[in-house]
Amino acid sequence: KIKMTDPNLENLNAKQLQAVTTTEGYVRVIAGAGSGKTKALTSRFAYIVNRLGINSSNILCVTFTNKAAQEMKKRVKALVGDTRDLSLITTYHGFCVRFLREEINKIHYPKNFIILDTEDQKTILRDVFSELEINSRHLTFKQVLQFISKSKSTSDYLAYILGNKSFEDQQTENLSLRVFHRYLDKQKRNYALDFDDLIHFTVYILNSFQDVLLKWQKNMHYIQVDEAQDSSDSQFELVEMLSRVHQNLFVVGDPDQTIYEWRGAKPEYLVDFDKMFPDCQTIIMNQNYRSTPNILQVGNHIIKNNTVRVAKDMVTDKPAGFEVVHFHGKNDFEETQWVAGEIREILKTEKAAYSDITILYRANHISRNIEQALIKANIPYSIFGGIKFFERKEIKDVLSFLRLMVIGDNISFLRMFNHPARGLGKKFLGRLSYLAREQNLSLLKALQRNISDTELAKKGAVEFLKIIEELQAISKTKSISDLVKDILEKSGLAELYRKDGDQDRLENIKELVSSMMLLEKENNEGINVEEYLQEVYLYTDLDTQNKNQDKVKLMTIHISKGLEFPYVFLCGFTEGVIPSALSIKERRKRAIEEERRLTYVAVTRAEKRFYITDSEGFNFTTGLNKYPSRFLFEIKEEFYVRKGKLSPEIIQNNQAGKTSVPDGDAQAFKVGDTVMHEVFKKGKVTQVNFDKNEYRIDFFEIGKEKPIDFSFGFLTKIEG
Ligand code: ATP
Ligand code: MG
Repeated sequence: KIKMTDPNLENLNAKQLQAVTTTEGYVRVIAGAGSGKTKALTSRFAYIVNRLGINSSNILCVTFTNKAAQEMKKRVKALVGDTRDLSLITTYHGFCVRFLREEINKIHYPKNFIILDTEDQKTILRDVFSELEINSRHLTFKQVLQFISKSKSTSDYLAYILGNKSFEDQQTENLSLRVFHRYLDKQKRNYALDFDDLIHFTVYILNSFQDVLLKWQKNMHYIQVDEAQDSSDSQFELVEMLSRVHQNLFVVGDPDQTIYEWRGAKPEYLVDFDKMFPDCQTIIMNQNYRSTPNILQVGNHIIKNNTVRVAKDMVTDKPAGFEVVHFHGKNDFEETQWVAGEIREILKTEKAAYSDITILYRANHISRNIEQALIKANIPYSIFGGIKFFERKEIKDVLSFLRLMVIGDNISFLRMFNHPARGLGKKFLGRLSYLAREQNLSLLKALQRNISDTELAKKGAVEFLKIIEELQAISKTKSISDLVKDILEKSGLAELYRKDGDQDRLENIKELVSSMMLLEKENNEGINVEEYLQEVYLYTDLDTQNKNQDKVKLMTIHISKGLEFPYVFLCGFTEGVIPSALSIKERRKRAIEEERRLTYVAVTRAEKRFYITDSEGFNFTTGLNKYPSRFLFEIKEEFYVRKGKLSPEIIQNNQAGKTSVPDGDAQAFKVGDTVMHEVFKKGKVTQVNFDKNEYRIDFFEIGKEKPIDFSFGFLTKIEG
């Protein structure tokens, strides 16, 4: 029997206690937002360590975002003390990097494989585009990146990267596919993995090498998964596979908070867990500890509109609390100014600090307006994710240079060889690429070997090589932070930023150097540059540097998952932002329902007060006049108070039901359908391009095929 004096356990309810102490076998917890799932999971981790005596390095505990993993680590640390190894409390990506560092040599990749972020991917694409002689008129990077990610949502492509197939001579009409193939070739040549690859490579190695699988299975005595509703096929496969020896797998989640279906999340793994593991135990919780009843009822109310869901309602014992507020502004300016004013008001009337306040939005671009209002009102703030610190240009420059020196990969080479400008142009690169391919060398090695070639022996090239070689020599004796300082000076980057008078960039670099120094102080043996780079490329948050500052937080709803804040503003609650223009365009019920779940996630982050804001005006992203989100009209007016007035037009339009685009399933037409166009008349659908959201329609009367956008309203299906 459990002693109830255990401080870890005494503030848990009966369901949580059951979850914590049911340590053996397959166990799942399904419960709504704020019901203490993560609390149960962290207490369970502590229970396994403190009461069962299991070493913390034998418990794998995974979640989605860095932010959530950090939060989880913090909670566990408070329960088990800080002498334990908590490195297996991590994200999927974090686990995979660690795994691959140990095992990737099995597939003849080097331990110091490089990780590509979006910027690196674009560098590769630039290269591919010039090889294929295409440009943004044919395809945009955004479209290609989406296509790549979609193609990598299953592991089928691995056969091409890891098998012996080469794409160079592969013929296909599909341009995206051709770009994708080239991209894979280049990845392979550089031993480079993008984020999607990390998990696929890991699962592939586990599936292919029995000894490796067994070794990791034996180590993982207990596995816990938070936010299980967002597990993708390979993520679930990974944890399931690792659990087969000890068979202790604990998953918790809330199907109503699935917000990554667009990236392959399958809530079925949570919902049908009992079908996969018939002996599993299910624990359901419905007591909410986070939010006031006023906030909770708005959340419950919104999510009820989803048709694909298991009905559940959250209850709470808390006093009703403040009313939920909706503010409608005449324009962006009024909206964000109101938010700033309200923040001032909260600070004045309640015992609150800036850091108790969080502003959420659906899309990154919304933040700019908010930022301007906050700056004007002198309110300190920081942005989480979004403008990723490690993706900022100046930071990437420095890191790329570092990577070029220690690894010598082509991606970094392409980024840095003519930056700052050294007069090395297209012709130079063309010749160099040719020689590199011919001699089967990296670009850097090829340059080193062929520097006397007439087309390569340029002053800039000789200089560039000299800088690299000097720095490589220095790197053997200096610490990484000193090395970075040298890189800045010698490479000419510092001068470039100084010349631009770009103080922000210089300060960001200082921030980088000081974070390196901090790391060096923590690790007496110094830091291994290669490991450092791999880790850095995983970061998506700036907050690692300045945690304890009293600032208002700005973040996307996606980043906020699993977190909670006393005061929450949901800004830019506009049709076309949430639900997103894309989800409306797609006209898929599933897409709209995912947007509704996002709204639910946003509402349920709030503890004490919740505000929704929107405004009128022109939306440059959608090209339409702004209009409140359809989800606003789904909340009964008695559940919130409105500040600011809706125009009669908005109210009337809403009554006429014009806000909701019909939620037809999938796109409206399929290949082979005969359709009628107001101008072009009769035609046949020959293609449905999801990556461009368009049909290709062969119009009989004009004898031409034309691309027609999914969202185009004046197209009707006709028989034969
Ligand atoms: P989400 O679905 O948003 O991830 P969750 O179910 O993981 O939410 P937690 O973050 O674990 O919820 O808990 C929400 C809040 O409720 C936390 O502040 C937590 O400390 C508190 N809490 C959880 N369980 C209890 C309890 N038994 N007694 C008091 N407070 C609790
Ligand atoms: Mg949670």
